[in-house]
Amino acid sequence: MTMFGNGSICPVCGAGELKEKTIDERFTYKGREMTVPNYVIYECGTCEEALVEPATAKRAEKILKDFSRQIDGLLSSADIKRIRKKLAFTQEQMAEVCGGGLKGFARYESGQVIQSKGMDNLLRILDELPFALDIINRRPSRVPAKVVNIMDYRQRRGFNYNAHSYGVKYTGKSNCTMG
Ligand SMILES: [Zn+2]
Repeated sequence: MTMFGNGSICPVCGAGELKEKTIDERFTYKGREMTVPNYVIYECGTCEEALVEPATAKRAEKILKDFSRQIDGLLSSADIKRIRKKLAFTQEQMAEVCGGGLKGFARYESGQVIQSKGMDNLLRILDELPFALDIINRRPSRVPAKVVNIMDYRQRRGFNYNAHSYGVKYTGKSNCTMG
């Protein structure tokens, strides 16, 4: 659905005509500049207001969020998806393990929401050391999570890592109660 058209009356001043223009729009984040190409704006010849379609703004926002992640040293939305796939979890299962809310991972992966530094650290740890999932499962006060079945997960992935190579004594037993 488009809101503006070439030649339509400017909704800001109600007098001028809108003219469609495709530009390279520049944005800055923490002093670093980035360009969003093929950015369509509708410019009013009278009041000089530039209007943007919501879909255009949304696409630019996603690009900018990934740009700011890069500047802040955070995982990109593609990285987050890759790590989740590596662990063989659905978005809901990832939220069960890592927190962040039911829709959290969908939003991180679509680029809508930027993960916290803490979430970013946890994801990096799970990426490098997937057996750290066992530590999460061992939390005594935790209501056993049905989705986190590490043995099943390991079998599904054909996972056969050697925890000793990380200097960790690993018994292969998870204290997670399976529901
Ligand atoms: Zn106008």
